Amino acid sequence: MIQKVIKCGSNAYINIVKGGVLDVKVDAIVNAANNTLLGGGGVDGAIHRAAGPGLLSECRTLGGCETGDAKATGAYDISFAKAIIHTVGPVYSGSDEDAHLLASCYTNSLDRALERGFESVAFPCISTGVYGYPLGDAAKVAMKAVKDWLAAHEDAVINVYICCFREEELEAYLKLENGQ
Ligand code: ADP
Repeated sequence: MIQKVIKCGSNAYINIVKGGVLDVKVDAIVNAANNTLLGGGGVDGAIHRAAGPGLLSECRTLGGCETGDAKATGAYDISFAKAIIHTVGPVYSGSDEDAHLLASCYTNSLDRALERGFESVAFPCISTGVYGYPLGDAAKVAMKAVKDWLAAHEDAVINVYICCFREEELEAYLKLENGQ
């Protein structure tokens, strides 16, 4: 299931995984949510189904989430995880701001994880589903954001899992990392 491991500094790894965020046993699962945080389709729906109604109840108390920001909740019925980190990717528009907002999703999510002392985080490919971000561009932004964050947090002991639910997502990451 792990397709490629990239060592970053002395304490951190980025793992490129073929599979969904619910298939890896991690402290924190990142959800590609929408601004309401009240559930949706894709990975958001899958996480809410797995976590059960307690998750929606907590999300109702959060007052939504700005695009690019990230908020943590409990993981409820997803017993192996300690938290869900909800982030909202940009709807792809082709403007320069898309990359900035997408990068913020990754860095703010990692900030939430670090604040809580988590050592493993699983990301979906944020914005690449219904939100339409081109896969190659999204992979480039995501890898740069995660690598830059890890370089700036040398002491963080952290395993990042980039979960490629669809084959095309995996191909985009492998193409990027293998320089093809
Ligand atoms: P967005 O609205 O941010 O584009 P999507 O949920 O449509 O969100 O897609 C984000 C990521 O979640 C993509 O990697 C997509 O392949 C993945 N994904 C979609 N459905 C599921 C699911 N049922 N389980 C796990 N991952 C999923």
